[in-house]
Amino acid sequence: MSRDSRYDILFEPVAIGPVTARNRFYQVPHCNGMGHNMPNSVAAMRGIKAEGGWAVVATEECDIHASSDVLPYAEARLWDEGDQNRLALMADQVHAYDSLAAIELVHSGHNVSNRYSRLPVLGVSDSAVNSFDPVQACAMTKRDIADVRRWHRQAAIRARDAGFDIVYVYAGHDLSLPMHFISRRHNRRTDEYGGSLENRVRLTRELLEDTKEAVGDRCGVAIRFAVDELIGADGITSDGEGREVVEILAELPDLWDVNVSDWANDSVTARFGEEGGQEAYVSFVKQLTTKPVVGVGRFTSPDEMVSQVKRGVLDMIGAARPSIADPFLPKKIEEGRIDDIRECIGCNICVSGDWTQSPIRCTQNPTMGEEWRRGWHPEIIETRGESEKILIVGAGPAGLEAAMSLGRRGYEVALADQSDGGGRAEREATLPGLSSYKRVSDYRLGQIAKMNNVGFFPGSEMTADDIREFDADEVLIATGAHWRDDGLGRYTLSSVPGVKDHPRCWTPDDLIAGRGPEKGSVVVYDDDHYYMGGILAGMLADRGLAVTLVTPGPEVSCWTANTMEQHRIEKTLTEKGVQIVEKHTLSSIDGETLNFSHNTTDRAFELQAQAVVLVTIRIPNSSIYFSLAGEEEEHLDALPFRLKRIGDCMAPSTIAAAVYDGHRVAREIDNLPDPDAVPFKRERPLIQIG
Ligand code: ADP
Ligand code: SF4
Repeated sequence: MSRDSRYDILFEPVAIGPVTARNRFYQVPHCNGMGHNMPNSVAAMRGIKAEGGWAVVATEECDIHASSDVLPYAEARLWDEGDQNRLALMADQVHAYDSLAAIELVHSGHNVSNRYSRLPVLGVSDSAVNSFDPVQACAMTKRDIADVRRWHRQAAIRARDAGFDIVYVYAGHDLSLPMHFISRRHNRRTDEYGGSLENRVRLTRELLEDTKEAVGDRCGVAIRFAVDELIGADGITSDGEGREVVEILAELPDLWDVNVSDWANDSVTARFGEEGGQEAYVSFVKQLTTKPVVGVGRFTSPDEMVSQVKRGVLDMIGAARPSIADPFLPKKIEEGRIDDIRECIGCNICVSGDWTQSPIRCTQNPTMGEEWRRGWHPEIIETRGESEKILIVGAGPAGLEAAMSLGRRGYEVALADQSDGGGRAEREATLPGLSSYKRVSDYRLGQIAKMNNVGFFPGSEMTADDIREFDADEVLIATGAHWRDDGLGRYTLSSVPGVKDHPRCWTPDDLIAGRGPEKGSVVVYDDDHYYMGGILAGMLADRGLAVTLVTPGPEVSCWTANTMEQHRIEKTLTEKGVQIVEKHTLSSIDGETLNFSHNTTDRAFELQAQAVVLVTIRIPNSSIYFSLAGEEEEHLDALPFRLKRIGDCMAPSTIAAAVYDGHRVAREIDNLPDPDAVPFKRERPLIQIG
């Protein structure tokens, strides 16, 4: 297939100072939970992006000095020559595919506590650090400012020598010292770095000038700047000081990378923001500078990308999440394979890697973060081994991913599902705000439909006997899980008395299927702590029910802090009139009386409600598996086929985990790893003696 000429414009080269990007696809800086701890993993992941057609591939934020130490987060680091050598790995991988490597240098000011280096924290003014750590930053003297400028300059030179082509000054996201200086909220200085905007921009201007002078003949110098903080007059706004900063610095950088702040606004989830949602804020920038402008907006539609360029909003299409979900997105557009694009669903599971200090993962792309340690490539998979016929029961995220991957390996695959397929991705996509989850099943069903060697059989409920008769070499049971209806959950480790026989006790499965309370009062008891409880509470409130959400957690939907949604969920529920009760555990139900105890005091608390929705934990639908394998898996070796269970049927988790499990098991068929060995390579620090 060849490229649709409508998209030609996306493949025009763009000059960025002394370097030229071969097309308009720009992987903007994004965190990955691996950072300086895992340089091989990061280098391989970035190299795949370059291979997939991104003309510029950037690092995550990169600390320039030990006084800007972001522990516990794992970001890039360029404190000395040793770090330079590690970062060079990434630049080399990116260059191998003729792309430009960009590095986002940062001093984080009072955004860090220096937990590792234990150096005093330097800030624009005397202030608390940006966390609950009992640590304060000291206002920087002129000497401190000179130090930061020198460190930034040294880091820029090291970046150039490591092979980077674009060096950033980072003034975005309210996370960096330049932004703290620019911000009236943080900057209380009375010297030439405080007061007027011209003064507050001074440090940013100096860093840009320093960087240009140090490396500008070899590298493009970029600025990342958040033009709006979305907090109104207290912050930077795109029709106020954000615009003025662009006016002041207009031609100084070689490239403007512009966005909105903070990170939760910049990487807003699909529940709370649309593709291209930043346009209203960033579109003015191109009118004020002749330098190329890159911006983000969870762009996955090539038509929208073309429109952004043609309408003069952006010169380059920036992407973090779309490049994570599909590192080959540019290549697929270039090759006219639009249907093959694996679109980001906007769930922010990738972001959770950073917040939980774990290597990046992605719901749509199971190979993300596994490029080096498992050698997984998003577009290439080992060809098949000796088995021939594979049966997969259940076409949810796990079964679909396994079927698609095994189809690509060349096996003869039959995928059976008792309903239409898609499993929980399809079901949950019917909930308010989750329609993009359908992309998980749509993409896989679309790919499978193109494969002659994969047969999909919807409406086929399989029994253990059906499976035995099928005569497959391998059988994967991917039958998912269902929500418990007895109250047992994370905090409550046994069935809750009075729940089982309650006539108006519902589970998420009921509500998704259209059953559930229609009027009156309802308690949503959330001992799951991810998105489900909050969504159902909001949905019932929208229907006019009087809703109280009770959770044993410290705050509503507390795990969604890792996807940067918690504050939005709490705000939305409050606006809908949902009463929120935190830190309370359900102890019993007696008719319409619900008894709770306070987590730390055991103080009893009573609520009256006509109905209850229990959002606790799930039970694997594993009866078929055990009837074949035996309760203790004692028949497994005697079966005439190899049998495995995957995804939620094995261990209920996120959709991302089910997709990953389906992918892993698909790779492992005829390729079984040694069960006693670590199944992936690890990055271990060299032991230094002396
Ligand atoms: P996962 O997240 O692990 O993929 P899901 O719950 O999303 O799990 O999907 C499980 C799928 O398995 C559902 O589409 C369901 O219809 C299907 N399924 C469950 N039991 C059977 C069965 N006995 N025969 C065929 N399909 C089944
Ligand atoms: Fe998109 Fe979710 Fe993947 Fe992140 S984890 S890139 S938001 S699909």
